[in-house]
Amino acid sequence: MGRPFLEYVKDVSMKYTCRCCSCDIASSDGFVWQGVMGAARQPALLLRDTVNLESSGDARSERLTSGRYTLVDVTCRNCATVLGWRYQEAQNREEKYKEGCALLQYSLLCTVDAEGESDVDCPCEAGSPAPQRSVAVHC
Ligand SMILES: [Zn+2]
Repeated sequence: MGRPFLEYVKDVSMKYTCRCCSCDIASSDGFVWQGVMGAARQPALLLRDTVNLESSGDARSERLTSGRYTLVDVTCRNCATVLGWRYQEAQNREEKYKEGCALLQYSLLCTVDAEGESDVDCPCEAGSPAPQRSVAVHC
């Protein structure tokens, strides 16, 4: 198979990267909102214009609190970590803006600024949403 082809987010002040392998996932310009996902209510980010995400498995129809959606799990193209899901289709008209966007688990992403500084602010680590400055964690 060799090395997977990776895309890069360029010329942005801030971007989101895969916490596991540090490959680019989205520009901070692609940030739509922060919420929670799944039954575990994990903190999550809704992002558009993502890169390096692969659909994993079959699309499924699921009823979430805001309506019924067609979802497909997405993994990091580089390290195959399941980062979240992509909204393929939203049934509610008000939720159509989510189509094509990815909802990714916050704790699996790093925020990196233009100087390459990583901000690992994982809410599940400290038990508080306060950002903490530290180096990227590699698994
Ligand atoms: Zn990765």
